[in-house]
Amino acid sequence: MTRPKPVAMACPALDGNEKKYVLECLDSGWISSIGRFVDLFEAAFARYCECNHAVSCSSGTSALHLALAALDVGPEDEVIVPALTYVATANAVRYCGARPVFIDSEPRTMTLDPRLLEECITPRTKGIIPVHLFGHPADMDPINSIARRHGLFVVEDAAEAHGALYRGRKAGSLADAATFSFYGNKIVTTGEGGMVTTPSATSCQKLRTLRGQGVDPERRYWFPVIGYNYRMTNVAAAIGLAQLERIDHFLEARLRLATSYNARLSPLEEFLSLPSEQPWAKHAFWSYTVILRDTARFERDDLMEGLDHDGIETRPVFYPMHRLPPYLDENAHYPVAEGLAVRGISLPMHVLLTEEDVSYVTDRIRYWCEHLNGRPRRARLALSSQ
Ligand SMILES: *Cc1c(COP(=O)(O)O)cnc(C)c1O
Repeated sequence: MTRPKPVAMACPALDGNEKKYVLECLDSGWISSIGRFVDLFEAAFARYCECNHAVSCSSGTSALHLALAALDVGPEDEVIVPALTYVATANAVRYCGARPVFIDSEPRTMTLDPRLLEECITPRTKGIIPVHLFGHPADMDPINSIARRHGLFVVEDAAEAHGALYRGRKAGSLADAATFSFYGNKIVTTGEGGMVTTPSATSCQKLRTLRGQGVDPERRYWFPVIGYNYRMTNVAAAIGLAQLERIDHFLEARLRLATSYNARLSPLEEFLSLPSEQPWAKHAFWSYTVILRDTARFERDDLMEGLDHDGIETRPVFYPMHRLPPYLDENAHYPVAEGLAVRGISLPMHVLLTEEDVSYVTDRIRYWCEHLNGRPRRARLALSSQ
C-alpha cells in the first residue's frame, strides 16, 4: 500500500505577519522582554478576551503559577482541580506549596462536574481551577455560584480554549483570573508563552510584580517580595500578535474540520462517541477527541496502533492525575476521568489539515473499527506481517 505523507496531530500556521514582526524585533534590537510587541499583544489579547487586563508570561504553566501566587495560595491551602487535565494544572498548585484536591469530570463535556464540587470543599479549600478541556468550556455559572457561596476564588485554565464561548461570553472573562498557553500546538502560539487575564486592576499589578522578579515599580533594585522571572520576550509577543490577528480564521478552520469529522464519523457511532457541544457552549476545538464505546470489542490502543501504521498521528487522553507518581492515590476513584483516559483518542486537528486528510483519517478509522472488532489477534497478526 502506498501511504500518503504522515498526518500530524498539530502544526502551527505561521504565514501571517509573524515573519515581518519578528524581523522588526531583530532589526530594532528589542529581542528581550521590553518592546512594543509585548504591550501590543497584551492589549490585543485583553480586548479579544473581553477582559480588562492581560499579563503575558513565559508559558501556560507559569501563567497558572502566577495566577495562584497573586491569589495568595500557600502551604495550608487546598485547590480543587479536575482529575482529568494536563499535569501543569496540578503542578502549579504544588509550586505554591498547596494541595490539589481532585474532582471527577462530567462525561459529555469532559470538564469538571459542578455537581461534585460541594463534597470536595473543606475548611482549607481556597479555590477552584476549572479546565476548559480540549476547547469545550466548563459549566462556569454553577462553579462560580458555589465558589461565591463558600468564598473561594475561581481561575479558568483556558490553555486549550482561546476563543471558546460560555453563554456568549469569552473564555478568559469568566472568573477571578484565567490562564492561557501559547505552546506550539495550541490554538494561538508564540513558541513558548502564556497569559493571565483578570478583571481586577489590583490582581493585574500583583501579577506584573511577581512576573518581574518582585521588583518595586517605584524603586529600582528594591525587591519587597520574592518574585519570578516569567517574562515573555518581545520576539514571542511579535509572533503572538500576528497569530491573534488571524484567530477568527483559525477557529473557523477548526470548526470546519470538526464538522467534517462529525459527518464522516457519525456512521461509526456504534464504536465511537463523538465530541458534543452543550447548548450553552461554543467549542474552540483545540482537540477533536473521540471516545471508544464500552460495547466496541477491541482495544483503544489497537486502533491507535493501526492508525500509526497508516502514518496518522493520534494521542491518548491524559492519564488522570491520581495515577501519576507525584499524585498517586491507589484508593482514589474517579470513574468518569478513568474511563475517558482509557478510551479517549485525540485525532489530528490543526489549521493546515485538509479535507483530504480528514477523509483519509476517517476512512482508516472505519477500516480499523470494522477489522479489529471482535478479532484483535488476527488483525494484529495481519498488521505485523505487512
Ligand atoms: C498546555 C496546557 C498547559 C500548560 O501550558 P504550557 O505553555 O505548556 O506550560 C496547562 N494546562 C492545560 C490544560 C494545557 O493544555
